[in-house]
Amino acid sequence: MQAQFILSAASAADFPRTGLPEVAMVGRSNVGKSSLINALTKLKIARTSAAPGKTRLANFYKLQYPVPNPQSLYLVDLPGYGYARGGQDSVEEFEVLTRQYFDPAPDSGRRIAGVFHLIDARHPDLPQDAAAFEWLMRTQLPLAIVATKMDKLKQSEQATTVRTLERRLGVRVLPESVMKGTGFDEIVKQIRQWSGRL
Ligand code: GDP
Repeated sequence: MQAQFILSAASAADFPRTGLPEVAMVGRSNVGKSSLINALTKLKIARTSAAPGKTRLANFYKLQYPVPNPQSLYLVDLPGYGYARGGQDSVEEFEVLTRQYFDPAPDSGRRIAGVFHLIDARHPDLPQDAAAFEWLMRTQLPLAIVATKMDKLKQSEQATTVRTLERRLGVRVLPESVMKGTGFDEIVKQIRQWSGRL
């Protein structure tokens, strides 16, 4: 697999229009999205930081899988939500960019293959996440949950958390821990399966 950073989009005009399948990642600030993207791309460029809520851009990465099943796609890192630290304006800006992202014009040359909604396994019941999930469901795109930071749960809580989320939300839940390096294989399989459908 080869990965490269393509661009950071501040508005819809910046989105690439190559027609490559896109898999989007959405989640609350600090959920562990940059860490996961670093792990999946094996690049150290998705900015991880202890000061959440600062990234207001959509970052596009191109992933290329080699033979025997060659595949190219974009992994798209959308701005984190749930942090108003930058003030009302930055919240609005985030909403506009995300709405623009999920509402491509028919002639835009863009194809969204699927969406990962990242949820912190320790906090599966946050109202901001519930609102974001409902919003994402309405796009009618293929959607799966990634339950992040599974290492923070006791062994005995891990399976229950995944099952409870799956039952409540009615979509697939993929557990992962960047700290332990677990869960990536299933995420990559899902990325490739979605992309292969387009
Ligand atoms: P983002 O704001 O969603 O991009 O979140 P980051 O990737 O920057 O991660 C936020 C914080 O959570 C950082 O301090 C990370 O080191 C930490 N973190 C991310 N993934 C994991 C994980 O799997 N386990 C643990 N224990 N911490 C994690």
